[in-house]
Amino acid sequence: MKLKRISEPTTESVVGSSVKEDDMKYNVALVGNPNSGKTTLFNCLTGSNLYVGNWPGVTVEKKEGLIKNTKENINLVDLPGIYSLAPYSMDEIVSRNYILDEKPDLIINIIDASNIERNLYLTTQLMELGRPILGVLNMMDVVEKKGILLDLAELEKAFGFPFVKISAQKETGIEELIREVENHLKESQLIIYPNVFPDPIKEPLERFNDDLMKNHPEILADTPAAFRAVKLAEKDDELMRQFADDQELIGLIDSVRDEISEFSGQDVDSTIADYRYRYITEMVKKASHHTKEDQISFQDRLDKILMNRFAALPIFFLIMFIIYHVSITLVGDVSIGLIESLINNVIIVFVNHVLSAVGAADWLNSLINDGIIAGVGAVLTFIPQLFVLFIFISLLEDSGYMSRVAFMMDRVFRRFGLSGKSFIPLVVGLGCSVPGLMATRTLENERERKLTAVVTPFVSCGAKMPVYVLMASVFFSAYQSVMVFGLYLVSLVTVFISAFILSKTWFKGARSSYLLELPPYRIPTLKNTMTQVWERIKEFFVRAGTIIFAASVVLWFLQSFTLSLNMVTTADESILADLGRLIAPIFTPLGFGNWVASVSILSGMAAKEMIISTMSVLLSGAQGSFTLSVSHLFTQASAFSFMVFVLLASPCMAAVATMKKELGSWRDFLFALAYQMGIAYLIAFITYQFLSRILG
Ligand code: GDP
Ligand code: MG
Repeated sequence: MKLKRISEPTTESVVGSSVKEDDMKYNVALVGNPNSGKTTLFNCLTGSNLYVGNWPGVTVEKKEGLIKNTKENINLVDLPGIYSLAPYSMDEIVSRNYILDEKPDLIINIIDASNIERNLYLTTQLMELGRPILGVLNMMDVVEKKGILLDLAELEKAFGFPFVKISAQKETGIEELIREVENHLKESQLIIYPNVFPDPIKEPLERFNDDLMKNHPEILADTPAAFRAVKLAEKDDELMRQFADDQELIGLIDSVRDEISEFSGQDVDSTIADYRYRYITEMVKKASHHTKEDQISFQDRLDKILMNRFAALPIFFLIMFIIYHVSITLVGDVSIGLIESLINNVIIVFVNHVLSAVGAADWLNSLINDGIIAGVGAVLTFIPQLFVLFIFISLLEDSGYMSRVAFMMDRVFRRFGLSGKSFIPLVVGLGCSVPGLMATRTLENERERKLTAVVTPFVSCGAKMPVYVLMASVFFSAYQSVMVFGLYLVSLVTVFISAFILSKTWFKGARSSYLLELPPYRIPTLKNTMTQVWERIKEFFVRAGTIIFAASVVLWFLQSFTLSLNMVTTADESILADLGRLIAPIFTPLGFGNWVASVSILSGMAAKEMIISTMSVLLSGAQGSFTLSVSHLFTQASAFSFMVFVLLASPCMAAVATMKKELGSWRDFLFALAYQMGIAYLIAFITYQFLSRILG
């Protein structure tokens, strides 16, 4: 089929084939449905390492990069995944405005060929924009396994632009794709693609368009005719906003709408969507041939088990339990010991050797040993556990299982202003808030992502456990587990009530759409898993080397010096102890207004494990055993209120730093800190006032 072309008024005249100078940069936009493999292809073409997840909607911002392995200078833009060009979401508006305004030299329309009909729905709309398109059928590995052949020539005939077959993940067909891109870069004309609508819709639209040309040439003059006619006929909100009071135009629109719905007997929007699908179905049928019978899909059988109404949750908790058991208990126990002995027996020995060789001063000795090595080292001991935990999480995400869990949770979470995807950060946060906070990145809606990041630290992380164990055994020996269970209940209630309140106040705004789509199960690839794990671990190292390093030095300083800047001889002379005494009255209403408890809370900001170790250092001078001294410091009521405060107050500095990173803005970050502290204080206060009355 020959394509009609008309020259486009806005581009300079085309002379020969060397329109673009040698150093000219071409812009190519990567457009497709969420989860169609855009980012995988982007990484493969540009050699970058953007995050790839088996989630619809992982790409939140647009990303750019130069295509490798080509002589041309081609800039590739990864646009957000979209299902249509309707203005239902910010992503859709961003993408269509990008195409209309930036006029990329070529649109690479990436299509998940294993879901070809649904993906082509967007294609039929892209065609109306009249820009050069190259169709890229991705996931051909899956299609071929299903025994389906796709006829590229038929598809080209039906849609009016060429197609190539690739697998972005297996990296097949990429070279040919690059050659095709090069071939099609030079078409800077407006292209008229085949019209997908039957005559009774096409004709009224064409007449409408002629009317527009004649009577309103100024309206959307630089918008392609096909797009303009359909979008106006659909009363597209974005476009209509400009013409809300143009009665004559509205009249024209209403008459074309009447004509269309008279023909179909339905409203215009459904008619247009319906006929797009009809065209697609017909053309795909022509272009595809089955070579073997579709077996009852393995996927469906897997879903029957994993998403079974009764079995789904127990299976999920079993999987999470195994993951925790393996990463925290099995790997954690061994690796913490190993790393500690590495630090104590190798690093410290070596460092001290060097320090004494150069005759370093006492304070420097102490700074390096008690400050830096102790602080950074404590954080580094987490790394093996995190590494294993991240591998599991990445496998769960990549396989498509996490999307299913999120899907199941969506309805409940939605009532509280969260999304089903918030579930994962919260569950991961049970182990450690740091990966929990990082897991919020899988939420595509910014508001929900930030909201989830603020409430995730309310989930009790593993490092707070020693506090509960100690307190419960000293004060609640008869009903320890009830008390600890009670704390988890407090944590759960705080998460949901906070989410509910914040989603109506600070984080008010657009909701994400319902999770409608489940990605297929896939076998995760080693490469993708390792890249993801490495990216996450790398950040952790960076933080250990920067923020945590700095905070350790500050904390060391506060612990080691007196206010007159002499080195301390006993712990209670330090600046930190003074600070503790200074802030202790703040905690009086919560029942633990003593300096030991205050200092422990302060040092718990470095790492929650330090709460107990600080207490033991501070109480080491006291008479009797450690637990006996602790029992003098608190009552049952104040012990429980202390646990509640530790549970809910802002997390350790590693998590706080992560929270800053995930929230982005200082404004949201400071709000989050204030909120977490405020809630912790309030709930501990209520707890204490209540318990002290009934327990005495
Ligand atoms: P995006 O949302 O469009 O950016 O999609 P991603 O690039 O994040 O990919 C979504 C999922 O599809 C990931 O799990 C990828 O590993 C997987 N994927 C991408 N390309 C292919 C492919 O060619 N074959 C298969 N089997 N999986 C793919
Ligand atoms: Mg993506």
